[in-house]
Amino acid sequence: MTSHSFDTRAVHAGRDDLVDLGVHAVPIDLSTTYPSRDSRSEAARLDVLGTGAGDGGLPVYARVGNPTVARFEEALADLEGAGAGVAFASGMAALSACLLAAVTAGRPHVVAVRPLYGTNDHLLDSGLLGTSITWATADGVADALTDQTGLVIIESPGNPTLDEIDIPALTASVPEVPVLVDNTFATPVLQRPLELGATYVLHSATKYLGGHGDAMGGVIACSEERARPLRQLRFATGAVLHPLAGYLLLRGLSTLPMRMRAASQNAADLASRLAQHPAVTRVYYPGLSGPRPAHHMAGGGAVVSIEITGEPADVIAAVRVFTPAVSLGSVDSLIQHPGSLSHHIMDPEAREKAGISEQLLRLSVGIEDVEDLWADLDKALSW
Ligand SMILES: *Cc1c(COP(=O)(O)O)cnc(C)c1O
Repeated sequence: MTSHSFDTRAVHAGRDDLVDLGVHAVPIDLSTTYPSRDSRSEAARLDVLGTGAGDGGLPVYARVGNPTVARFEEALADLEGAGAGVAFASGMAALSACLLAAVTAGRPHVVAVRPLYGTNDHLLDSGLLGTSITWATADGVADALTDQTGLVIIESPGNPTLDEIDIPALTASVPEVPVLVDNTFATPVLQRPLELGATYVLHSATKYLGGHGDAMGGVIACSEERARPLRQLRFATGAVLHPLAGYLLLRGLSTLPMRMRAASQNAADLASRLAQHPAVTRVYYPGLSGPRPAHHMAGGGAVVSIEITGEPADVIAAVRVFTPAVSLGSVDSLIQHPGSLSHHIMDPEAREKAGISEQLLRLSVGIEDVEDLWADLDKALSW
């Protein structure tokens, strides 16, 4: 599939065999176990699967793998330009596997750049999985490395202030250490971090990849060599993606390019209108205020954050087209208060330092008519 354009691959990847199977829709395999009358060859297959190699055959047991999920992994890897995709039950499970891979490799020190998604921040700051953390600026990452550093973690654009990092400059500054880029906000439509030197790409597939707010999942795109320890960890810790979610996420990929373009256009339009609104003191949107890093994504994406003069809770209560809810990346527009929801778990002082003020609201812009979205916001922002 890789010889075709991105939009074509989004529709066809992970589905190459369907015509030969004589089906149009992707089969959903709900088996938890895979019967066989030949236990000797099953044992031999388990030995291979135990190395983390995905051998393409039936998985023996659903915690080892699943054919429907494998289609989603193959398609996402194709779109990110990766050797492999490894899917998990959620974005947090995917991040946990990468952290545990660093710990088990004997390099438990992590360097990360704020802001990150609130629970990513919490998982690192708390050291729950046995990692230690040094918070750095993008320019300061190389200086923060120790001989124990097993992972560098960044989000670009960052959640919720949309800070962009010059990914090629950062990866070039730490050639010896794997770099994980959380690409949830940009998606491979706007940015492909592996092409910019990253080692791992992380997605909360719950967001844009699924795109309809009805499937939770996470996925890592990386080399086949890096994928093996992640599969071993997934098998041993059990955070597998359910096949129904695998089906929905694969289906989501087919409209991802169109959804991202439509939602990004709405978001850019709303961002420039909000910048003129008397109740809005600051708009966060890539490219709206000041120069962007040399290598930035192809468009500003579909999240806009604003600081307002009034009471954020009143705006949340007043909207009628925007859905007042945490999360993002759905076809419908969502609005939430990071201080109360997505970043509530952070230490309040760290939150303030990461630029997440109490006056901040985060908008995930969907694909509705932009005039309806604007009218809804304009009304909710009048006091
Ligand atoms: C939501 C989110 C996550 C966590 O993903 P879940 O699927 O909720 O576990 C990680 N990173 C970013 C940027 C997110 O928005």
